[in-house]
Amino acid sequence: MASSRDALGGAGSGEFDATYGHNLINPRKQYKFEGDISSKLIIGERRAPVYIRLGVLESDEHIIQTVAHEISEIEEARYAMKVLTSGRTLLDKTLPNIKGNWHYDAVTAGDQAVNAFRTTIKLRILTMSTEHEKIIADRVKMWNEGSVHFASDVAYPAIRAISESGKGDLFHLLPLPIQTEVRELVAQFVADGVMEVGVKGGMTEANIS
Ligand SMILES: [Zn+2]
Repeated sequence: MASSRDALGGAGSGEFDATYGHNLINPRKQYKFEGDISSKLIIGERRAPVYIRLGVLESDEHIIQTVAHEISEIEEARYAMKVLTSGRTLLDKTLPNIKGNWHYDAVTAGDQAVNAFRTTIKLRILTMSTEHEKIIADRVKMWNEGSVHFASDVAYPAIRAISESGKGDLFHLLPLPIQTEVRELVAQFVADGVMEVGVKGGMTEANIS
């Protein structure tokens, strides 16, 4: 499984899924969790802000992996950085591929969270009972078995089932490539004026004409 990328700022250039702490770490300076990673909010509580790249929010699995990763890493930093810690140590702890460092453990934590999520989704698909749920479950099964070759073969019936049932949360049961296909098709339907999408109670509501 691909690992999340992140940065305790300054760990290098490039694109990261999320960042926390300082943007630049000086190897010769000393840092502490309180004040350097966490900061005081207006309401008086101390929090460690995490900045997540917008693209991450397009996939359930990516969100789960990234957030679990950052929580794991920040919790290790919180424990280790109760005392002053050198910037050199901080940079080392966030390097990938070194067993036992924060980033290494965080990759494991992120993967475990995604696996737990997939198991939950599989269980939910097994226990689907309504007519619309069954349509989606059947197509997802066919997709997973490789008996349908085009994402659209799953996406079209899924859009119809979600739209007719009014259950936007069924979308999250679709495999990632199908979610992407559904988003693209729905955007096209809306652009063509054959579909309206609204949000009701935090759930997307779609009407196809
Ligand atoms: Zn990391």
